Amino acid sequence: MSGPDYLLALDQGTTSTRAMAFDLEGHELARHQIELTQYFPKPGWVEHDATEIWQHTGKVISKIIAKLGRAPLAMGITNQRETTLLWDRKTGMPVHQAIVWQDRRTAGHCLALKEKGLEPLISGKTGLLLDPYFSATKLAWIFEHQPELKERARAGELCFGTVESYLLFRLTGVHGSDATNASRTLLYNIHDGSWDLELLDIFDIPKAVLPKILDNAFEGIPTKDYDFPVSAMVGDQQGAAIGQGAIHEGAIKSTYGTGCFVLQNTGDKAPQSKNRLLSTVAYQLAGKRSYALEGSIFIAGAVIQWLRDGLGIIDSAEESEKLVRELEHNEGVYMVPAFTGLGAPHWDPEARGAIFGLTRDSGPKHLVRAALESVAYQTFDLLQAFEKDSGTKPDPIRVDGGMVANTWFVQFLSDILGTGIERPKVQETTALGAAFLAGLGAGVYQDLSEIKDFWHLDKAFQPDMDAGKRTELLSGWHDAVSRVKMDI
Ligand code: ADP
Repeated sequence: MSGPDYLLALDQGTTSTRAMAFDLEGHELARHQIELTQYFPKPGWVEHDATEIWQHTGKVISKIIAKLGRAPLAMGITNQRETTLLWDRKTGMPVHQAIVWQDRRTAGHCLALKEKGLEPLISGKTGLLLDPYFSATKLAWIFEHQPELKERARAGELCFGTVESYLLFRLTGVHGSDATNASRTLLYNIHDGSWDLELLDIFDIPKAVLPKILDNAFEGIPTKDYDFPVSAMVGDQQGAAIGQGAIHEGAIKSTYGTGCFVLQNTGDKAPQSKNRLLSTVAYQLAGKRSYALEGSIFIAGAVIQWLRDGLGIIDSAEESEKLVRELEHNEGVYMVPAFTGLGAPHWDPEARGAIFGLTRDSGPKHLVRAALESVAYQTFDLLQAFEKDSGTKPDPIRVDGGMVANTWFVQFLSDILGTGIERPKVQETTALGAAFLAGLGAGVYQDLSEIKDFWHLDKAFQPDMDAGKRTELLSGWHDAVSRVKMDI
């Protein structure tokens, strides 16, 4: 069967593998998604099975091609960042479980490097902080616990990569990453755009294990099993920023998936945060980098998943909206979902979650409300840091990700932030961004700015809460968060 051209985005997220097809004007044609198994082998550890990721990839791609009856023009890969994979260069088979970005097992290593006074040097080169979140200490952990893998890596027999790199390798045989994903490893110098030998030395990583670094859109690389090329790769948050049209200096977006990630474009200058935000590559095209300031919150939608799978008090994430609307007020119940420590601006890997203010009549509705509210409060803390860094309050903010389907949550977010919020029609902006980049690589589009024609408003939200109530809620939150912090 034939038909009009389309672009495919492969979105390998934290909780699912998703493929989405878009026509050349950015309208969705088809999607298919499979949930990914999460492994929690010890407290604070999070792993994925790289073989399962690969199997799901094949299934979602085949499903879309079968649905549409034809192959895409090109495919873009977007992915959960920082998650660390190691595989055999000959067979492509993983030699270790994937260590997921949320995993905290390397907190001790990070602390030891901080105590050696290395954080300023590392931050200066990478734009990041010493936190288990990033890839380098995860890879070092594998080598420390399986020294034979380090030997094999030195001999060039193994490949390291984040998820896009692993998928590109399995799809095409090319061992490559892209500048946005590389900028999350702690091994990449964001200023000169290359792997940094001094950093490799600090983390004791052999250079032979690293992929080559590509632009975010490139001339198609043929796939081995399909008749279409891969022509883009981009980290999920940078993909979302592109899908939101946040490509010009000052533009800001906030994504609510498993975690929450705010990115503000800073143009061709790498920002230097004074408030513990990260500097990161926003995109690299034709060898030229554009940068962003980023704040990362580890637990956003994941707290709703925990209510569903951990506590079993809701049957689906959607049910959280129905329950929360049945309560007028939080009645003093606050939840700090620091399940894997606290991210920006606190950066406290040892903090753990807690619920405060329970009384005899507290029930599932209170927990649901406290969970949803906590995501808005965490965003408030994050945006305070953005405001201090830039001197201006970002307004409006474009939001996306699985959680923004919850209209109660988005309104509450606007109330707490005191800013306008714009929710786009296509909320899978990550996939949209990757598909657009694939089109850029394939020559369908000539310039990144053409993405603005793809963005359409679904709903604009304005703050509608009196100042007294807002202050009271925020003070309850700040009291709660101060009580879980270990790193005071
Ligand atoms: P990721 O790409 O990180 O896997 P998604 O953008 O697909 O995440 O969003 C999934 C997350 O959104 C899940 O953690 C889920 O709990 C949350 N979510 C989905 N729908 C809702 C809803 N209606 N209300 C609150 N949270 C939701």
